[in-house]
Amino acid sequence: MQFLERSIGGPRECLGVDSREAWERKAKTIRVRMGLPPRLTEAAEKRAAFVSAGRWVFDCPCGSAGLASHEWGVGICPDCGTVYGVTFPRNREAVEAALLERPVGNRHYFPDAEVAERRGLGRAERLSDLRQENDLRGLGSTKERG
Ligand SMILES: [Zn+2]
Repeated sequence: MQFLERSIGGPRECLGVDSREAWERKAKTIRVRMGLPPRLTEAAEKRAAFVSAGRWVFDCPCGSAGLASHEWGVGICPDCGTVYGVTFPRNREAVEAALLERPVGNRHYFPDAEVAERRGLGRAERLSDLRQENDLRGLGSTKERG
């Protein structure tokens, strides 16, 4: 997954799709391969995006997870075929820059309180947490930034 070296991945990077329509077609194909009906359903509720192993994803209430796109503002769970609006942290670009200083396997970020709680974290993570952890590991340019 070399594409994840250079960016925090979404559907464009991970699935090679270049539009929301292409992504929905891909999700339908994935569902057919899983023996499921290709239909996708739009949910009214929004889900919070977070970073897991270098990809922007969201937790689906069905128990699975899906990729999330800041570009197209949605996340798709291929397992249950639900399309959600997704929210991203306002400082997404700075978060991505801090995460890109780490090896791909260590790129995780849980900026939503509920998502963080489900993972046993005491509170939502902040950009300052990422920078502090990078400093402790001697990664990146946070020291030069002051
Ligand atoms: Zn689902």
